[in-house]
This record gives sequence, C-alpha cells and structure tokens, in this order.
Amino acid sequence: MSDYLELPGFTHVYSGKVRDLYEPDAERTDGAAGRMLVVASDRVSAFDHVLSPAIPGKGELLTTLSLWWFDRLSDVPNHLVADHELRSDDAASDPATVREIIPTEVVGRSMLVKKLDMFPVECVVRGYLTGSGWKEYEADQSVCGIPLPAGLQNGDRLPEPLFTPAYKAPLGEHDENISYERVVELIGADDAAALRDLSLSIYRRASALAEPAGVILADTKFEFGRDPHTGEIVLADEVLTSDSSRYWDAEAWASGGTPAERMASFDKQIVRDWLAANWDQTGTPPELPADIVARTTERYQDILTLLTGAAAATR
Ligand code: ATP
Ligand code: MG
Repeated sequence: MSDYLELPGFTHVYSGKVRDLYEPDAERTDGAAGRMLVVASDRVSAFDHVLSPAIPGKGELLTTLSLWWFDRLSDVPNHLVADHELRSDDAASDPATVREIIPTEVVGRSMLVKKLDMFPVECVVRGYLTGSGWKEYEADQSVCGIPLPAGLQNGDRLPEPLFTPAYKAPLGEHDENISYERVVELIGADDAAALRDLSLSIYRRASALAEPAGVILADTKFEFGRDPHTGEIVLADEVLTSDSSRYWDAEAWASGGTPAERMASFDKQIVRDWLAANWDQTGTPPELPADIVARTTERYQDILTLLTGAAAATR
C-alpha cells in the first residue's frame, strides 16, 4: 500500500499509514546495528485511507517538531540514538554520527532510534473533551470509565487532564479506548502507573510550553517501550506532533464561535473537511486539489513556527 524507499544498508520491516520502519543490516559496524530507522513520509491519511497526492514537506515538518519536543523534554528518557553513543571508542578513527548513518534520501525526516519492546497501550492524555472522548461522554458521561460532570460541551476544557488509554490494536484494526484497570491487566500495576504518571506529567509540561505561543494542546498520544538492555521505560514513537496531538488556536477557542471555529486545529483538518464535503466515504477517495494540499502544508508549517518561535522569544 505504501511507497517506501529502498535504502542501502537497511531492510524495510514495516509501513504504517504514514511512517516506514527500517532495520539496519546486522553486519554494519558503524553503530547502527540493533537500532531502528523511523522515516516519516509525506503521506496523509484521513478516515483510515491514505490519500493522494502527498503533502510536500509533511514528513520533515513532523520530524522536526518531534525532535524539538524530545529536546524540550530531555530529562525524560527517549528512544533517540544520541550522536555520542555512536562514536567509536577511538574518537580519532572516523567517528560515525547519526547524520552519517541516515541515508541522504531521508535526512531531515528520519530518526535513528533504539529498538524497544513497545507497550501495547496508546497513552492518550486529554485536557479537553473532543473526538472519541466526546463521543463516549455523550453516550455515558464518562471517558475510559472516568465519570465526568454533566453539561460539558464538545471542545470544553476538562476539570483536569485525564489519562485515557487505548489498546494498540494489531495492524488493520481500530485502537480501542480502555479503562485504566484494563491497562493494569495488560501490563501490570507498576508499569501502568508509570505510564500514566509520565504521560500526565509530559502533557502538563508541554501544555505550559505551548501556552505562550497562543496554542492549546487539547490532547495527545504517547507511546512508550522498555529498553531490552537496561529495563528502563522510554518515551518512543513521535511526540507531540500534529499527527499525534490536537493543537488549537487559543484565541479562536476562547472566542465562543461554532465548534468548528473553536477547534480549528493545526493539522490535516482542512483535508478532513474537504473530504467530508466531497466524498461519500465509499470506494476510493478522490484526489486532493492543489489548494487543499498547499493550505495543509501551511498549517503544518504554522504550528512549528508558532511553537519554536515562541520558545526562541522567551529564551
Ligand atoms: P498507523 O498507520 O495507524 O499510524 P502504526 O501506528 O502502526 O499505524 P506508524 O505510527 O507509522 O504506524 O508506525 C510506527 C510504529 O513503530 C508503531 O507501531 C510504534 O509503536 C513503533 N515504534 C515507535 N518507536 C519505536 C521504538 N523505539 N522501538 C520499536 N517500535 C517503535
Ligand atoms: Mg502510529
């Protein structure tokens, strides 16, 4: 289904809707062996379909954003392979850097990472009620088994951020919201508590960092894995990108307009809206028009500029 590249020295092992995973060939001696290369493509998906054409620059914009966040959260153990780890003991003998290991075709949109044993749990944190959380709330006034006050509207801020995990379904199946008790059953009480506490704390820190940019981090999803060598719990996957998070414009949200105006997000919302208006969701989705593609690239660029620009200004 996907259009991944053949990369010399790497074997393609998996493609999700957006990203392609590779493993370095085992005989490599430059420090890459045992790692994984995560390449973000420009593919865009909506309503579970990969669309055409791709969004130029999207893979690079999302990778840049992820790396920026990993750096902001540098005290949280993460899966990035740091340059220094790849340097041979004898620094004089041509030290290999991450940049040298990543094939030129995918530089800027790939991360060289430690291969972890992933927890089968998507660690979602919601500060605001929308999406599948809103649907659950409408049905039974709770989210992932957590009871909520009556009278909340779609897009409202929650009394406090909630950990609302989902079971990471095997390929092709939908992720399913689960209760915290179910997480305990799946991975044990200690790891469940660790993932919950880490997720909530990273969400709170990221929200506070996004605030000066005039951006609301409405919700986000983290994935964690265990380092098979050290046993440590490590933040993995992409972090706080506009594919894994809902970012809203704080001013628009506060303005009290329609739900669509309040929750205009810095992601592929434009694509979703265009598809919803131009496709009945049967058969193959239509080609995206050029102006929709261009405006979507702009939205991905905007969130990066807003976040990184605001951070630079307050430094
Ligand atoms: P979808 O198309 O719905 O996003 P997906 O989540 O399977 O499907 P991707 O997000 O593109 O697809 O793939 C990334 C995969 O890599 C995920 O399964 C994720 O759990 C896994 N992953 C991320 N970081 C690591 C890591 N450090 N070690 C091992 N696996 C990882
Ligand atoms: Mg994924």
